[in-house]
Amino acid sequence: MTKIIDGKEVAAVMRAEIAAEVAQMVAEGKRAPYLVAVLVGNDGASEAYVGNKEKMCGEVGFGSQVRRFPDTITEQELLDEIARLNADEAVDGFIVQLPLPKHISEDRVIEAIDPRKDVDGFHPENTGRMIGGLPAYIPATPDGILSLLKYYDIETSGKHCVVIGRSNIVGRPIANLLSQKGWDCTVTICHSRTHDLAGVVRTGDIVIAALGKPEFVTADMVKEGAVVIDVGITRVPSAETKSGWRLAGDVKFGEVAPRCSYITPVPGGVGPMTIISLMRNTLRAAKREVYK
Ligand code: NAP
Repeated sequence: MTKIIDGKEVAAVMRAEIAAEVAQMVAEGKRAPYLVAVLVGNDGASEAYVGNKEKMCGEVGFGSQVRRFPDTITEQELLDEIARLNADEAVDGFIVQLPLPKHISEDRVIEAIDPRKDVDGFHPENTGRMIGGLPAYIPATPDGILSLLKYYDIETSGKHCVVIGRSNIVGRPIANLLSQKGWDCTVTICHSRTHDLAGVVRTGDIVIAALGKPEFVTADMVKEGAVVIDVGITRVPSAETKSGWRLAGDVKFGEVAPRCSYITPVPGGVGPMTIISLMRNTLRAAKREVYK
């Protein structure tokens, strides 16, 4: 029988845990954790993501602020803002919402963030620490996937995990993490140059689809009894919704689900876990858990 992994439920449990911890901190006279989001330009999707993060900050009791800049901001002006946030002791963690306008180097911006405040976990120092198995801020989406596997007590040891996608924010970190001691998967990473992708995916006990191609993974690509984690979120046209679009994952859910032991839906699977994992990283920053 297929079990549908309920990301909303897991995120709600984590939200309650974080909120309780914040309430305790405040009761002890400590300051609540404080997260800043830097938003450049007025891209609709970025506005929505940042709005959701700000709302969640309110729900768990964090202080938060969105610092908005026009897309005409120069790289140097943005780097100056990052230096100010690095130095501001009232700010525990901050994120720079990506993508940035083309005239600004995302790499230079990410490298300018103090790793101790890098709650997105994108700074190379956090990447290096994560790969080395040291305490680190782990990017929110892979961290959210690990929380789902843990919550549902899904066996990973010795399992073959096939990850489709090798981005810095999802594919590569989740592949690395699941290969580490404690998770103990044997991991294969697939990308756009992989030969016989369907054949490789069929060997996966756990399949993580993070390629951004709606309904790419079909039933014939999935082994009977596999665990399927669908990271993809793409807006596709729909005649059945008022808005004229719906969200689609990278997995053809209707035909793949009956073959799986566990599967995440879209929406309601990995998505809700990403924001809550960012909240947890911010709490860890406020408690100086990663960098003493
Ligand atoms: P990305 O940076 O565009 O990377 C996509 C990866 O998929 C690349 O490594 C690419 O290979 C690979 N790929 C593309 N087409 C492929 C194909 N036909 N066969 C095999 N591999 C293919 O994407 P991302 O940022 O990782 O995001 C992936 C998806 O997850 C998107 O839909 C995004 O919206 C979603 N996402 C969701 C959350 C969430 O909270 N749920 C968070 C982040 C991202 P190459 O490297 O060879 O080009």
